[in-house]
Amino acid sequence: MQQKWIGCASSNFRKGRHGYEPRVIVIHIVVGSLESAGMTFNDPCSAVSAHYGVGKTGEIHQFVEESDTTLHAGTVVRPTWRLLGPRVNPNYYTIGIEHEGLPQARWPEAQYRASSTLVQEIANRWHIPLDRDHVIMHREIRASKTCPGSVDMDRLIAAANSATVIAVVGAPPV
Ligand SMILES: [Zn+2]
Repeated sequence: MQQKWIGCASSNFRKGRHGYEPRVIVIHIVVGSLESAGMTFNDPCSAVSAHYGVGKTGEIHQFVEESDTTLHAGTVVRPTWRLLGPRVNPNYYTIGIEHEGLPQARWPEAQYRASSTLVQEIANRWHIPLDRDHVIMHREIRASKTCPGSVDMDRLIAAANSATVIAVVGAPPV
């Protein structure tokens, strides 16, 4: 799928992943526009970043390469995510996807469609299982935040799974 490369201030992400690979996708809400996320990540003083942003109309912006570490889920507060490993910063093994909008607002259909396709593509690249243990909400790591708000995670993951099925069915016979 097409994404627009936006980039990120070098002070807001880290080259490489300390030997880790992405094995979890973390869903966020911008609490603002897709453009505001790009501006924040390109502000050298913000000290935050994510790999992708998904707009309400389905546009996808990429800020950082998947093989690099973004600063989106490094603060652990009363985590409820059961696969959280001890002593390792979650940023090293997660991919962060921001979503345009406000926490209480419903995502438009186009945003679900684009996000689920992006999730499916990332999962295929890194062999990440498409389930609720591996596609998680930010607040499952940081309970002091409501992020990502009202997103229907079961719907998002089901759509990502059906995107996988279509890809397999559509593959040429071997
Ligand atoms: Zn978040």
